Amino acid sequence: MADSATTGRMLVISGPSGCGKSTICKALLTDERVVFSVSATTRPIREGEVDGQDYIFITPDAFRERAASGQFIEYAEVHGNMYGTLREPMDTALAAGSVFLVEIDVQGANQLKQQGIPGIYTFIAPPSFEILRERLVGRGTDAPDVIERRLKKAHDEYEERSKYDHIVVNEDLDRAVNEVRELAGLGRAD
Ligand code: 5GP
Repeated sequence: MADSATTGRMLVISGPSGCGKSTICKALLTDERVVFSVSATTRPIREGEVDGQDYIFITPDAFRERAASGQFIEYAEVHGNMYGTLREPMDTALAAGSVFLVEIDVQGANQLKQQGIPGIYTFIAPPSFEILRERLVGRGTDAPDVIERRLKKAHDEYEERSKYDHIVVNEDLDRAVNEVRELAGLGRAD
């Protein structure tokens, strides 16, 4: 039996883009017991991102090498780029008793679940697709065709929600964060 006092837990967060996953994760990370899983990706770095902190930005060749040598516990192509969760930081965080926070798309979460990797599988849902559209437009980072593609993907991803252990509707940020904190055994923030 794993000793919960010394063995950490993996908290898997996924859900459609624009549903507030990243904001929820940022709030969770203010708790020092939570360690963020820094994924490797082939997508170009965005303004404001820090290499090694937001993602490890690597070339497609380097990604393939890491995948071939078994460094990922899962990887997937998302919006035309590769993303993978690294095994080594997960082992370190779990051994230290931390909550290892993995923010990945639904394909990645399915892969982890199918491998029987223990975790708290949590789907973050938007209150409605209308609100999701408004959020994606309001973000101002994507062209209209990209928004339509993301919305289509969001619909597809939404269909996957029943595969998760928990569904948290992000209508009110504080409430959603507290719900996730409780699921992860962190207790409420307020
Ligand atoms: P973005 O490029 O906007 O940061 O992320 C795009 C999507 O990739 C998000 O849905 C995010 O959750 C997902 N993602 C980030 N890292 C990983 C990963 O390591 N594996 C998988 N499968 N998806 C990831």
